Amino acid sequence: MQVFDAVVVGAGAAGLFCAGLAGQRGLRVLLVDHAPRLAEKIRISGGGRCNFTNREAAPANFLSDNPAFCRSALARYTPQDFIKLVQSHGIAFHEKHKGQLFCDDSSEQIIQMLLKECGAGGVTRWQPCTVADVRRMPDGGFELDTSQGPVSAARVVVATGGLSIPKIGASDWGLRLAKRFEHAIVEPRAALVPLTFDAEAWAPFAALAGLSLPVEVSCGAGKARGRFLEDLLFTHRGLSGPAILQISSYRTAGQALQINLMPDLQLDEELVEAKSASRRQLGNELATRLPQRLAAAWLERAGLDAARPLPECRDADLQRLGRNVHDWQLMPSGDEGWRKAEVMRGGVDTRELSSQSLESKRVPGLYFIGEVVDVTGWLGGYNFQWAWASAAACARAMADASSPT
Ligand SMILES: Cc1cc2nc3c(=O)[nH]c(=O)nc-3n(C[C@H](O)[C@H](O)[C@H](O)COP(=O)(O)OP(=O)(O)OC[C@H]3O[C@@H](n4cnc5c(N)ncnc54)[C@H](O)[C@@H]3O)c2cc1C
Repeated sequence: MQVFDAVVVGAGAAGLFCAGLAGQRGLRVLLVDHAPRLAEKIRISGGGRCNFTNREAAPANFLSDNPAFCRSALARYTPQDFIKLVQSHGIAFHEKHKGQLFCDDSSEQIIQMLLKECGAGGVTRWQPCTVADVRRMPDGGFELDTSQGPVSAARVVVATGGLSIPKIGASDWGLRLAKRFEHAIVEPRAALVPLTFDAEAWAPFAALAGLSLPVEVSCGAGKARGRFLEDLLFTHRGLSGPAILQISSYRTAGQALQINLMPDLQLDEELVEAKSASRRQLGNELATRLPQRLAAAWLERAGLDAARPLPECRDADLQRLGRNVHDWQLMPSGDEGWRKAEVMRGGVDTRELSSQSLESKRVPGLYFIGEVVDVTGWLGGYNFQWAWASAAACARAMADASSPT
């Protein structure tokens, strides 16, 4: 039986980072992953350029049943800390939108950086390697049955991620292990995911597929309300784009979305005022403010004649059109599911974990980090920042607990 100080299960963002840091702090670390290829989610992230953090990351950018939980880890390992690490490896990057940082070249650079950090920590890595069982021993340590033989360790870190994109290695192993050790699970749901509609209800909009525009989208009530100013994309089956991915994380089944298609102006007032100055047809006037295909679709929805000269339009009709455009209420029938979701919402309930160390309060020596935990970031580099921050908190705590006093 091989003996380690810590076994990290899952060599994705959180697992690689945690293993490297713990190794560099003197722990003998084994890192195992069942997938044939290393860190596929990092590889495909950010369109292949990995949006590895967000300069502005703060607790308000994360969803959880226990919103204060993420504070401690995020405060002790900040975006600036990760930026320094990226710079120390000579990786060039740029800011794209609202604090989002991407590699100039390729997400492969982040994977290579994490591998070098593991190398510097003398981490042993077995991949592909499955873990059939984890047993708690009477001395408080663990024994694991792996496909490369039995191992024992004082600590086990679960870094198996969320359920999205099963074809590249996502599994519910971490959630099942948590349940076996009597941890509560906040129901997992697909998040950062395109929304779908009944084919019949969507038929009038299907022809708009491919059209994108900036909107304000909101959903939910009270503290659970989300509101984003981002781009929306029409698809054949429904809606996508950053605005929809963001709001999908806030939405629960049966909740309607409110979309303002022109958040920067008050359409009814503008059209009523324009009546005295413009000789344009209503359709052409609207198309100066909205993409033409969308303008035509909205006039049809409102039952208004696009060819009618603006001065001949009734104020009441223009006001009704304005309301339709500024307050489009719609009820999704579902979402594109785990196949298309970027992340999982829900996961291991944080009320049974230490926010300082990510250690189980039920099973000392067992840790949960990254996306398997009920902390879900917005779109824009926040999920990786949680992976780095939770991994750093765990590695630090494990090393402190192992060092002689
Ligand atoms: C298409 C896409 C694009 C994304 N882009 C971004 C982005 O640009 N910025 C951002 O912040 N976030 C992005 N994300 C989210 C981000 O990738 C995840 O939140 C992050 O990778 C979570 O890190 P993790 O280590 O917890 O899980 P992962 O990185 O998913 O790693 C989990 C690892 O555990 C392994 N594993 C699973 N089950 C087992 C098992 N039973 N035994 C052994 N190993 C197992 C998996 O093979 C995997 O390697 C994106 C996600 C997707 C799907």
